[in-house]
Amino acid sequence: MEVLSSCIYCGIGCRLKYALEGGRISKTLPDRSDDVSEGSPCIKGLTISDVVGERRLTRPMIREDKDRDFEEVTWERAYRFIYEHVKDLDGREVLFIPSGKTSNESSYVMQKFARIALRTNNVDGCCSRLCHANTVRALRDIFGIDGSPSRFDDIYTRDLVLVIGSNPASNHPVLYNKIAKAKRRGTKVACIVSTPNETSATSDLSIQVQPDTELALINALTNSVIKRGSLSERAINVNGFGQLVSMVSDYTCDRVCPECGIDPKQFRALEEAVCASKAFGLMHGMGLTQSKNGIQNVYALLNLVIVKDGKMLSNRGEINVQGVGDMGGSPSGIISSFVMKGELERRWGTELTSEIGLNMIQALYLSPVKAVFACDTNIAVSLPDLNRLHENLRRTFYVLLHHHENYTMRFANVLLPIPMLIEGSGTITNGERRVRYVRKVAEPIGDAKPVWTIFKELSKYFGVERCFDYRDERQVFGEICELLPTYRSVDADEVYGGSDGWALKDPPFTKYIPVHYEGREYARTSSRPYVLVTVRSPSHFLHGELTSLSPSLRRGRDVESCYMNPDDAKEKGISDGDAVTVLSTCGSVSAEARVDPRVNRGLIKMYIHSEKLLVNRLVPLDYTSVTFTPNYKSISVDVKRA
Ligand code: SF4
Repeated sequence: MEVLSSCIYCGIGCRLKYALEGGRISKTLPDRSDDVSEGSPCIKGLTISDVVGERRLTRPMIREDKDRDFEEVTWERAYRFIYEHVKDLDGREVLFIPSGKTSNESSYVMQKFARIALRTNNVDGCCSRLCHANTVRALRDIFGIDGSPSRFDDIYTRDLVLVIGSNPASNHPVLYNKIAKAKRRGTKVACIVSTPNETSATSDLSIQVQPDTELALINALTNSVIKRGSLSERAINVNGFGQLVSMVSDYTCDRVCPECGIDPKQFRALEEAVCASKAFGLMHGMGLTQSKNGIQNVYALLNLVIVKDGKMLSNRGEINVQGVGDMGGSPSGIISSFVMKGELERRWGTELTSEIGLNMIQALYLSPVKAVFACDTNIAVSLPDLNRLHENLRRTFYVLLHHHENYTMRFANVLLPIPMLIEGSGTITNGERRVRYVRKVAEPIGDAKPVWTIFKELSKYFGVERCFDYRDERQVFGEICELLPTYRSVDADEVYGGSDGWALKDPPFTKYIPVHYEGREYARTSSRPYVLVTVRSPSHFLHGELTSLSPSLRRGRDVESCYMNPDDAKEKGISDGDAVTVLSTCGSVSAEARVDPRVNRGLIKMYIHSEKLLVNRLVPLDYTSVTFTPNYKSISVDVKRA
């Protein structure tokens, strides 16, 4: 038997075919009819069958003391235990972390529970905050919508795709396939990278810049487009054009090339390509957003896209990271406008708090909360400054809803087993805001319950069950489509019938937000002379908690080493294979050195995927001031032989 359903990993949201034997998933196959993957999903999707049965959480478990083992309990006992620990807490003392790996229905009910049962707006999606908050905020400020106005297939209509801060060949292979197909038809591809990667290796033009200087280069390209008159007619009439012209006028080749560390000839080649383009496309990713200047970087990119009347193609991490934001998975979430708050109160039949919620950086580091409900996340690996975070988590009552064992469970008081995405029904919203039905492929393992069911059942203990009187996921989705302005364009029956829907994509306005380059955020010093750049492997997803369970993906590249330039290694007396310690201002990690000529001098490259390595011990708590998205991409470090 075969069932068509969704991938579980990235924001492309491919549809896959699952083969079943004895009711269990035995194989994952491409779906040749899928518009998104065009029948060629990536290796991560095709190995999902390897990871379904490994290291599963199967029963609710609790423990008072985090130094003791968990005790298996009934669901009722787990709910009572949770209720007793949080019933007297003020809403400001609790944080809810919904997941971009679960369905829209689950995220919606979870945030609703937080706002009603605990009367808190402390709700924040992990992947949204750590990866995409800068993109979403910049899109909202510039176009008035919280999602991408473009579609993945817009790649096919571009004559130039400029890829910056992104490596789709590794992280979003299906998008890379579309780029490669467009390239075969004549589209040119240019890359701006701080360290060469799989995408830049196959591009027509690749420019290496010093980390964290991309903003200066983008402003210079915008200046060139304006000066050479290769801008669209519409661009001149967009609000803020005069300010943009004046602000970027200082960004000349002479000024930016030394700052960015590039040859003027390369700048001229890129300038020529961008100015000549009649159908410009710009793809960006976390290389630009996970920076202290993250939001300024995205404003600058969007300014360039608007002057060229081009398409912005932004990559997304988790499969439903767009959806979790749309469902209210942020502190202001769906109640940010007073009108919407009134509408929600009327519809939900209860009064909501107006208190501004804390995001996860505030709630876990700056004013640590007393209790956390986290769904399908691994924050003890993914957040920055892990030494400080782990200290705080030891003092926090932590409820983890997950389907697999992971590193963060060592900080939990309660483990609640949930199905994997494909073991339940519901919807996801992919990175282009396409709303897709996820069909249940197999029964969940053990006693797992859907996230929305768990919060429905828990609501009884808080005396608010009348607000959670749902029969099934379809009823939850009906409420979503009726209530959320961005989902009123979605026909719930059609989506549940298997057709894709589209959440709102039409920008209500367009304006420029000119931004200056304020300099690099890292400082190379004699005690920390290298810049650490964290990267991803094509064989792994996020912190590898699932992909590392697949024998074929494990055979991929070595993600537990520290990669450095041969001349840097020689200077330090380090040979390939030596044990080394990498040190930053907030921590250190031990790794094996890999001497690699593809790494530029002065850079250290490490992968993010290993729970053993915990590379985020090196990432200081440093973030974009507006969105609190941490800087993961340019960190001053030293390397020593152990
Ligand atoms: S990981 Fe992403 S690109 Fe790969 S199959 Fe899944 S959704 Fe598609």
